[in-house]
Amino acid sequence: MLPFNTIEEATTFLGRNLTVPETLWFNYSAQKSDFYLYCHNILFLFLIFTFVPLPLVFFETMRSLGFLKYKIQPKVKTSLSEMFRCYKDVMRMFVLLVGPLQLSSYPSIKMVGIRTGLPLPSMWEILAQLTVYFMIEDYTNYWIHRFLHGKWGYENIHRVHHVYSAPIGFAAPYAHWLEVLILGIPTFLGPAIVPGHMITFWLWIALRQIEAIETHNMISPGLPQNISHFTVVQITMITTIMLDNKARAILLRCLLIAIISMALTRATATIRRS
Ligand SMILES: [Zn+2]
Repeated sequence: MLPFNTIEEATTFLGRNLTVPETLWFNYSAQKSDFYLYCHNILFLFLIFTFVPLPLVFFETMRSLGFLKYKIQPKVKTSLSEMFRCYKDVMRMFVLLVGPLQLSSYPSIKMVGIRTGLPLPSMWEILAQLTVYFMIEDYTNYWIHRFLHGKWGYENIHRVHHVYSAPIGFAAPYAHWLEVLILGIPTFLGPAIVPGHMITFWLWIALRQIEAIETHNMISPGLPQNISHFTVVQITMITTIMLDNKARAILLRCLLIAIISMALTRATATIRRS
C-alpha cells in the first residue's frame, strides 16, 4: 500500500511528475496491501505452470509434424494422459504446499526489504538485480542438485523428480515436497542479498519458473546450452554496467559472489568430468 492518497501527494513526495509506469503502478497498488501484492505470485505460478508448458505438449503429441528430429530422446514417447497426470500432481502440490508456503513467507519478504512504493526502479536496475538473482540461483541450485544426486539425497528425495526419465515441461516442479522446500532457498537467496522492488520480485519469480520449464523441455535446437546461457548473462552484465550508475553499484556489490560462484561451479564441473 502506498503512503499517498492522491497522485498530487506522490508528485510532491517525488519532487517531479510521475512517469507513465509509476502512474499505472499508483493506480493499481495505492489501495492494495503489500501482502495482497505479494500474493500475486501464487497466481503467476499457477498461470505459468499451466500455460508455458503447452507448446511442449503440442510438440510431444504432434510427432508426425517433423519435430521429432529436435527431440533429445526421440524414441521416448510421453502420452497426453501421462502429461495431464503430471500436471494434476503438480497442481495438488501447489495447493497443499507452495500456496501456504507463499502466504507464510510474507514476513521474510518484509524483513529483507522488498519494497512496493515509489519511485519505481529503472529498467537497468531491474535488469541488474535479475542478473544477480539468476547467477546466485544457478550456483546454489547446482550444489543442492549435486547433493540430491548423492546416494542418500537421491534415494530419499530426488528420485521423485526423476520418475519422468525423459524431460517434459510440466515435470519441472514435479518433486518430493522436501525438494520443493529446499529449492526455495536458491530462489529466495538473490532477493535476500540484493532486495529490490515488488515488481522486480514478481518478474524474478515468473522468469525463474519459465527458466525451470525451459530447462526441462525435451528439445535441442542445436545450440550448446552452457555457451548460450553464459553469453546471455555476460552481455546483460556488460550492458547494465555501461549504462546505469545504480545498476553498476548493485552489480559491483555482487561481482565477488558471481566470480567465486562461476569459478567454483566450473572447477567442480571439471572435477566431475575427469
Ligand atoms: Zn536431478
